Amino acid sequence: MTYCQKVLESVVRRNPHEPEFLQAVTEVLNSLEAVTSAHPEYEKMGILERFIEPERQIIFRVPWMDDGGNVHVNRGFRVQFNSAIGPYKGGLRFHPSVYIGIMKFLAFEQILKNSLTGLAIGGGKGGSDFDPKGKSDNEVMRFCQSFMTELYRHVGGDMDVPAGDIGVGAREIGFLYGQYKRIRNVYEGALTGKGITYGGSLGRTEATGYGLVYFLEEMLNSRSQVIRGKKVTISGSGNVAIYAAKKIAQLGGTVVAMSDSNGYISDPGGLDIDTIQFGKEIERKRISQCYLPESGTRYAENCNDIWSVKCDIALPSATENEIDAKSAEMLVSNGCIAVAEGANMPCTPEAIKIFMENDVLFGPAKAANAGGVATSALEMQQNSMRTSWTFEEVDARLKVIMKNIYTKSSEAAKKYGCEGNLLAGADIAGFLKVADAMVAQGVV
Ligand code: NDP
Repeated sequence: MTYCQKVLESVVRRNPHEPEFLQAVTEVLNSLEAVTSAHPEYEKMGILERFIEPERQIIFRVPWMDDGGNVHVNRGFRVQFNSAIGPYKGGLRFHPSVYIGIMKFLAFEQILKNSLTGLAIGGGKGGSDFDPKGKSDNEVMRFCQSFMTELYRHVGGDMDVPAGDIGVGAREIGFLYGQYKRIRNVYEGALTGKGITYGGSLGRTEATGYGLVYFLEEMLNSRSQVIRGKKVTISGSGNVAIYAAKKIAQLGGTVVAMSDSNGYISDPGGLDIDTIQFGKEIERKRISQCYLPESGTRYAENCNDIWSVKCDIALPSATENEIDAKSAEMLVSNGCIAVAEGANMPCTPEAIKIFMENDVLFGPAKAANAGGVATSALEMQQNSMRTSWTFEEVDARLKVIMKNIYTKSSEAAKKYGCEGNLLAGADIAGFLKVADAMVAQGVV
């Protein structure tokens, strides 16, 4: 049995009720076989055993009162997974599906993603099973204040710097930051994704979606293809999806379908992205209300059917495991040439296998969606320097970072015998930096 297999066996045994975490670890350990046999020092130092165990997991009660005076109790989480190369960094997710297994999978992926950016940030993730949907602004504020009243002990500019994720956008970050500052009485960059008036970075809102498309451009370049003229399906209609859609449109592509958790809208002639953005960001509407019926756009229930829409490129940008084998087969038979993951782990292992067997270009999440956290790290740099860069400056840095991530991933794949496999390449390139830092720091 190889070192990776031994460690995987113990992960499976010790975390039986966390399928998402097991899925993420299995994928990474499969990629690392060649690396661990080339570096026997990693086994000697117990690097993998430590790499798959979070440094710290914090679980706490979050009581809050709704507008009717009823008390609710949610569960809060922060998983501080690995700080070998920098302070923990990773978003907060507010969604009813959140539990420790989802937090661990996201924090684990975040270690490798953050390493790939080339910036000094470790891996963490947090959130709550609170659902902001249907809550008033005051209810969301009271929840965020209660959440931060515990979380503040565990975060800080040099310790752990959370950001947004599903269900945590500008409104939530504002409320969380206000409470952090009130309790700590310091004005420091303990959160990223902040508003521009209080320490946020221009370009952070757009960064994950734009970065995803910059990464896609690199993938397509490798086959002498471009975005112009391509039909693109993007699942979700949140932060990542909207800005991916805007960048695709700017570069001459046509977005033919978008979704939310209820259903999807499609139009072979192209969706009106501005109407969708206004409906989602300003009016907080459902996707079914974000188009003009006379425009030719159609709505259908069941968000998973979005993958039956004919497209050249798919950008899954909603949530984990949204493309299964059946959806992957549909995409392939409809002529899809590239898939880049905007969401974290949106493709099942079976779906990824189908893409690879059919020579579909595949950009894994930890590389393709790293633009968000990279720009968060740029926000941290600006906060430390007490300065702010222009949108153009941030965007230019983001482009360079995404290009470098692509190059690092494809070169690592080549070096370790799996040329063209960006999934393995991203895992390997991200892991090597963290592993070497862990070796240097001794058994801690
Ligand atoms: P948002 O909350 O802004 O949007 C999420 C979108 O996905 C919404 O349209 C939502 O629909 C849909 N969605 C959520 N859960 C489900 C589900 N179970 N089934 C179907 N659709 C669902 O989140 P983000 O855009 O920020 O995040 C999307 C993905 O991108 C996540 O995987 C996140 O981890 C990842 N990501 C985000 C980054 C960021 O900077 N924001 C950075 C890197 C990765 P509805 O409104 O109906 O719930």
